[in-house]
Amino acid sequence: MKLSELSRRDWFKNVGLGLGAAAVGVSASQDASADFVTKKVAQRGTEYTGKDAVPCTLSDGKVSRPASEIPAVSETDVLVVGGGPAGCCAAIAAARAGVKVTLVERYNHFGGLATGGLVLIILGHWTTNKAGEKVQVVQGLGEEMMQRLEKLPNGICNRNFGRNPTIDAEVYKYLLVEMLMESNIELFLHSWAIDAIVDDSPDAKTGNPVVKGAVIQTKLGPQAILAKQVIDTTGDGDVFAYAGCAYTRRLYHIGLPCRLGNTDKIHVEPGTKVPYIGDITPIKGVRWLNMQGPDADGLDVRELTRLELNSRRQIWKNYMNLKNTPGCEDVFLMETAPQLGVRITRVLEGTEEMTLEGAKAGQTFDSCVGYGGAWQGDHIGWQIPYGSLISKNVENILTGGRSICGAPNMSELLRVIPNCWSSGHSAGVAAACAVKQNCTARDVNLDEVRRVLKEQGAYLG
Ligand SMILES: Cc1cc2nc3c(=O)[nH]c(=O)nc-3n(C[C@H](O)[C@H](O)[C@H](O)COP(=O)(O)OP(=O)(O)OC[C@H]3O[C@@H](n4cnc5c(N)ncnc54)[C@H](O)[C@@H]3O)c2cc1C
Repeated sequence: MKLSELSRRDWFKNVGLGLGAAAVGVSASQDASADFVTKKVAQRGTEYTGKDAVPCTLSDGKVSRPASEIPAVSETDVLVVGGGPAGCCAAIAAARAGVKVTLVERYNHFGGLATGGLVLIILGHWTTNKAGEKVQVVQGLGEEMMQRLEKLPNGICNRNFGRNPTIDAEVYKYLLVEMLMESNIELFLHSWAIDAIVDDSPDAKTGNPVVKGAVIQTKLGPQAILAKQVIDTTGDGDVFAYAGCAYTRRLYHIGLPCRLGNTDKIHVEPGTKVPYIGDITPIKGVRWLNMQGPDADGLDVRELTRLELNSRRQIWKNYMNLKNTPGCEDVFLMETAPQLGVRITRVLEGTEEMTLEGAKAGQTFDSCVGYGGAWQGDHIGWQIPYGSLISKNVENILTGGRSICGAPNMSELLRVIPNCWSSGHSAGVAAACAVKQNCTARDVNLDEVRRVLKEQGAYLG
């Protein structure tokens, strides 16, 4: 969508708000109490006169969407779309670097697959170096989150160095609310990014399109958020795809994790074969079960629906097998993940690609802005090049998390939670530095990016 099709203007006059005070977003400086929400709704109810959305038309069997103005509800320095592990780190890092940040999330909570997807084991934040020493390679915001989870009841277990900790989804959801609000980030939940906004004019230096924000779908129809830099941390690269960035599309395992309760009440006779009950969590008697699932297309809604239905039937069958085992009667199915476990879909074509061969050989990059660690016993660590976070053909859009540029065998490692913390952290700081330096994300001064990352506790090797 071109910027000129938008109108940020009269709508603000209509609702009596300036650009700095978004109508639906909530930041720490705003009162998020029920009272506040009721007053705003009443205000809109009396003064809002526009149509919520323009309907599509059906003509000659073809559906089309007429051109229409979209109200701009916010203008920000850095817009982060997708509030999973990568997006939350990107948003907090950018805000701590001193710019205005807006974070958009489609669901009612933050944490992405690590909370809504019930993916609870934190793999790959440490590695073993050639001297045989264990080194924590994901530090900074990821480490801060784990330290803060430790201080909350049932927040995290197995924190001993050299082990893979397990977190609790609800505690992590709560912690992220605190961390995002204390960073004064403007937050939009229940908002699904459905389009990118690009400027009418291409970038003078590269001739590439320049991203200027995103359109979100809300209950009131589409609304626009304008930004100087956009970070796509949807995991699926929705916004970079809509902006026209080159990417590769991959099929990968899709599964549905779940949690069981009362597993500490299993008392079986010796010799009884107990079906798999999963791994421990920070809550006594509660276990979580991962599910690998088949290779499938996580962008195809029919496929997603089929997998969701099949996974639920499979979980129920396994649960019944367990419950019908003598001595296991008290076990109950506590929760299936509210969010289907899609691992990899779109991967950005950046200007630098990480490969497993390169990581194993200790490849270094002049543009290093982060570090990651493997989880499959091969204990390698690798540098994250800045070029894996930026598009090769579109300006001012970055990515972090499971969609960063990596060969298929590398994406398998890049997608684990700590590595998403790490690349999200790097993307957030880089976007903030580009805003402060008034340059494109491509031209940002990487020495300054690294300086700020180190100041924020990140490990760069
Ligand atoms: C079944 C399964 C098991 C796994 N096991 C492990 C494990 O044991 N250990 C480990 O460390 N990792 C594991 N992973 C990987 C890890 O959970 C994910 O790769 C990681 O959470 C990705 O983080 P992210 O921030 O890049 O994306 P996500 O966690 O996917 O977050 C993306 C966020 O963006 C939001 N979003 C998406 N599209 C839009 C849109 N259009 N508009 C607005 N918001 C949007 C989503 O709702 C979500 O909150 C597993 C993954 C799966 C699926």
